[in-house]
Amino acid sequence: MRCRELLDALSDYVDGELDESLCADIEEHLKDCNPCRVEVDTVKKTVTLFRDHLPYEIPWAVQDRLHRVLLERWRKKRWRKKKNSA
Ligand SMILES: [Zn+2]
Repeated sequence: MRCRELLDALSDYVDGELDESLCADIEEHLKDCNPCRVEVDTVKKTVTLFRDHLPYEIPWAVQDRLHRVLLERWRKKRWRKKKNSA
């Protein structure tokens, strides 16, 4: 797995919605790739904050464009799910 692929799958991974085999690939990649490890860690924390607090309460640790993109994707996904289950 390449860094780019990992980042693409990251929101699902953080949500725990990824296939087991893909999760294994990600964990394997993380063993050898420090930047991705930092990235996963940051996104996990961000998503946890987002889940537990209202958006305006987030101390925007998400300064970087990539993080905004990931979070936006995650929010849309959540919203879509909520709508579908309503
Ligand atoms: Zn990587």
